[in-house]
Order: sequence, then structure tokens, then C-alpha cells
Amino acid sequence: MHGQMMQQPLLIASLLRHAERHHGAQEVVSRRVEGDIHRCTYAELAARSRRLAQALAALGVGNGDRVGTIAWNGYRHLELYYAVSGSGAVLHTLNPRLHADQLVWIADHAEDQVLCFDLSFLPLVEAVASRLATVKHFVLLTDRGHMPAASKIPGLLCYEDLIASQADDRFDWPEFDEQTASSLCYTSGTTGHPKGVLYSHRSTVLHTMASALPDALNISARDVVLPVVPMFHVNAWGLPYSACLVGAKLVFPGPGLDGKSLHELFESEGVTVSAGVPTVWQGLLAHVTINGLKFSTMRRTIIGGSACPPAMMSAFEDTHGVQVIHAWGMTELSPIGTVGILKGPQLKLPVEQRRAIQAKQGRSVFGIDMKIVGEDGHERPWDGQASGELLVRGHWVVDRYIQGDRSPLINGWFPTGDVATIDADGFMNITDRAKDVIKSGGEWIGSIDIENIAMAHPAVLMAACIAARHPKWDERPLLVVVKKPGAELARDALLGFFEGKIAKWWTPDDVVFVDAIPLGATGKMLKHRLREQFQDHLLPQG
Ligand code: ADP
Repeated sequence: MHGQMMQQPLLIASLLRHAERHHGAQEVVSRRVEGDIHRCTYAELAARSRRLAQALAALGVGNGDRVGTIAWNGYRHLELYYAVSGSGAVLHTLNPRLHADQLVWIADHAEDQVLCFDLSFLPLVEAVASRLATVKHFVLLTDRGHMPAASKIPGLLCYEDLIASQADDRFDWPEFDEQTASSLCYTSGTTGHPKGVLYSHRSTVLHTMASALPDALNISARDVVLPVVPMFHVNAWGLPYSACLVGAKLVFPGPGLDGKSLHELFESEGVTVSAGVPTVWQGLLAHVTINGLKFSTMRRTIIGGSACPPAMMSAFEDTHGVQVIHAWGMTELSPIGTVGILKGPQLKLPVEQRRAIQAKQGRSVFGIDMKIVGEDGHERPWDGQASGELLVRGHWVVDRYIQGDRSPLINGWFPTGDVATIDADGFMNITDRAKDVIKSGGEWIGSIDIENIAMAHPAVLMAACIAARHPKWDERPLLVVVKKPGAELARDALLGFFEGKIAKWWTPDDVVFVDAIPLGATGKMLKHRLREQFQDHLLPQG
């Protein structure tokens, strides 16, 4: 027997329709590439998105066509999020931090028909435009006054002209199957070609509903949300959608991601929640500390993308009264998988024990099921000790890549490539990326634990622990460290700092001090580069 409830497809346009109807006066504030602050409401944004949808149709964009974007976080990018997906086309966000050749490869592979980009990326796009075989229209996300007098791109279109060309904002978002593709994001592809993950309307709306919950990203109509995490990579962790779902005020930082610009915007707009990778928060915390500043409205910050060091957590929580929400996810998971919000009884624990739990990557949000398996493929216990590869499945987990040749799944589960433990309360703790694990005498050493300890040293700005080849143990941990500007720190003092904090045999064999650690396009440390450079560091020289 079927239930007798309405059958309504889960479509992305419904999020914007909801925001317009129920939170129409709520503000969307953007720091623009042009240099000023722009303000509009959800009602205005929705009306412009409907005009944009018609303008895209007039350019010939049809169902399933890919529209690429290379853009910062801002209201025009948000309009594209809704107008492209809402009209049945596919929004393809491209990461401008990728190498130009990789960008061309991705845009080609995705067969982007239209490419919309911010003014700051004009030189980048001009340099590659002639190589973009499938792109028929290039759209500069600005107004007529900021269009270049001449451009190497023939027929370059002006975004505001496109919107103005559609006088009528009455337009009904089409209804279609909720499994229709909505947006596309490629993994960073540190090895081999990037892989395309094609989200659907259904997966996105379900991800949006689950991610806004109090035990997930915890956002509401009373919040002012500033996503630092870019809209050009995994949909800014879904915040452009979840903010509409709850009717939160949105504040977009545009290209201003340095500590000073962010702090100014937090204060001037009354931001209550932000979200970003640890490297961004480092810059912000340094700026706030050096200048003796405070956060007067910030209540929570969501940190993920790579492990949040406990030292950063305590800086936010103890010094600034900002709660850290540690989250884990992947492009293949839209991206949210787990969130580290404490359960009731855990709140009563002494602070060190609480911190130890918060340092873990957290519990599954409803909709994501997870397990860890050993090398024999058998599931390992949830005892907080046994570790194994993390496998997930759920409503917003990739089923196959756009390449589509071979299913990545193992018996219906997606192997994440992360190595983790899960404790009896369901808190998952990533100990390593499988490819970064250090195998010393056949035993695994988790590099993240070691990095977290190093990061707690007051003179350490950044730390990466990598496997270096060793004549006796095959591999031993080697710590690569960037010191804080002006700080004094000797090798032995840093190694001594590990005493009592970690098993002796986990202590790194040596420390190398470097000026900088290479970061990838999504802010993660490129450990394979460090391995290439230092893998023989522990071998006898000469
Ligand atoms: P990529 O494009 O490189 O796949 P993703 O953003 O999808 O980038 O990265 C996913 C990976 O990032 C995860 O598999 C995990 O290794 C790492 N990661 C994400 N969040 C965390 C976290 N909170 N702690 C540790 N590692 C994390």
C-alpha cells in the first residue's frame, strides 16, 4: 500500500522560492571584486535569478548543459547557483587556484557551454580562452562600467547587461525529475586527472536539509553566515543552499580572505557563524591576536577540509568565546559526512577530555552511514582504538564519477581513502589519508596526531608529518615545520615537546625547518611534494 501524501520532487529552486517568500527582506551582503560592498535582499536576488535563467535560455543553454563559473563568493555567483540549476542546466564550479592547464582540461572534459567569471579572473580566462573548445559564450560577472575597453575574448558578454535584457522577472521555475543533475565539481586530483562528481537536485536538497540541523552546521534564521569556504569548491559546504533553507543573512567576502578583511566584515555585518579550512583561520587568528581585537558577534565557526588542530580550537574557544564545530567531508559527499558536536553527557567532562573529543571529526549526520574496515575487508569495532579505512554510503554520496568507466564502490560503499577510528559514541577520528600513512616496522603511525601536537607549540606556525625512508624501520615520521615569524625554535626543544604526549616510538626522528609548506588548490598541505623532497632525509648520506 502506498502512502497518500503529495509527491513533490526535491528541487533546488524550491530553496530560493522559500527564502523569497518567507525571508524576502533578509539581506545578502557581498564584498565585490569591484571594491565596494553590495547589499540586496533574498526577494531581489530571487527576481534577478529568474531574469538570469531567461537570459541563459536566450543564449541557448538547455537542459543538462554545463555552465562553468570561476568566481569568488558573492551574490552574482549565488544567482548563478540558482538560475543554472533551477532551470535544469548544470552549474559547474571551477577552482581558479588550479593550474591553467588543469582548468582547461576540466572545462573541456565537462563540455562547458558558457563560462562566467569574476573580473579578477579576466587575465586567467583571456590566457586560456582560445583553448576552451566547447565554450560558446564568455560572461564577465560585472556591470557595463567595469567592462574592459578591449578584450582578447571575442564577444565577451557583460553579466549585468544579460540580466537587464530580461525585463520581466515573472518566470516559473520548471518542474522535473529530482534525480536531474544540478551541479558538478571535480576533485582536486593530486594524482592523475581530477574526477567529476555530478550532484543531483535530490542529493543537494537532502544534504541541505540535513546540514542545517542543530547537530550539524547549526544555522537558523537568526544567524548571519559568512562562508569563507569557496563557492568554487564543493558548493561552499552547502551554505549557499542551507542559508536559503533557514533564511539566514548571508555575507560574502569576495576576494578578501586575509585576516584583516575578514575581521572587518565579521564586525561590520554582525556575523554569527563562519566556515573555512584551518589555514584561513590561522591568518585570521594571527591578525586578531597581533592587533588585540575581539569577535563581538561571532558565536561559532565550522572548520574542516583538513584536521583542525586542538591548539586552534582552544584559541577560538578559550580566548575568543567562539565555538569550533569540527566537520569532515569530501567532494564525493557533497561534502558533509560528520560533524563534531558534543552529546549531552560529554558537555560535563573536564575541558581536556572535551577537547580530545572535539578534535575528532565527529558523528555521522543522518543520511550518511559509515564503517571502518581492516586490510582483510572486515568491519572493525567502534572502540576508538581499532583503525581501518573509512567507507561511507548515503543519499548524497557519489555513486559513480562523471568519467563513469568503473564504479568506485565496494559492495555499495564508497571508500574514502581516509584511515580512521570510530568510538562507542560514534565519533569518527581521521588518523590519516591512506596515502599519507607512515608505516614504521609494519605498524601505522598517524601523522595528524603528531601534527596536532606540534601545532600546540607556541613557536610553530605550520607542521606536516611525513613518512621518510628508514634503513631499519622502512619508514619513520619526519616533521616538517614552519616557524612563526621571529620565533626561536630548535630541533631538540621541539622533539622534547612530544615527551609524555605521545608513545615514544611515534615521536618524529627529526625535524626540518622550511620557509613554507606547499598548499593545494583547496588549502590542504601537499604532503606528496614534501615526501618527494625529504623522503631520503633519514637515510645515511653520501
Ligand atoms: P579533494 O578535492 O582533494 O578530494 P576534498 O575537499 O574532497 O578535496 O577533500 C576530502 C579529504 O579532505 C578527506 O578525504 C579528508 O582526507 C580531508 N578532510 C576533510 N575534512 C577533514 C577533517 N576535518 N580532518 C581531517 N581531514 C579532513
